[in-house]
Amino acid sequence: MKPGIHPEYQPLTVVCACGNKFVTRSTAKSIHVEICAKCHPYFTGKLRLVDTAGRVERFRARYRSPAEKAEKADQAEKADQAPAEQGSADS
Ligand SMILES: [Zn+2]
Repeated sequence: MKPGIHPEYQPLTVVCACGNKFVTRSTAKSIHVEICAKCHPYFTGKLRLVDTAGRVERFRARYRSPAEKAEKADQAEKADQAPAEQGSADS
């Protein structure tokens, strides 16, 4: 290898959001992942929604049936009455 042009290829620990860690090698300084082989539904065999950004809840809020929307509106009114609680941000 030509000296001075290659990044350092050093061992590092990959940290998953589930707490799992494993060691590999990379030129990166650190790697943090949201999902790994220990917690991905494909490998665990358990159905689990991977929803770190609240996307599922946003989808459900958008495509809720009218009856459920009315129910949610009632809940929102109650939430508005509670001073400390912040209302849902439906924009
Ligand atoms: Zn994991």
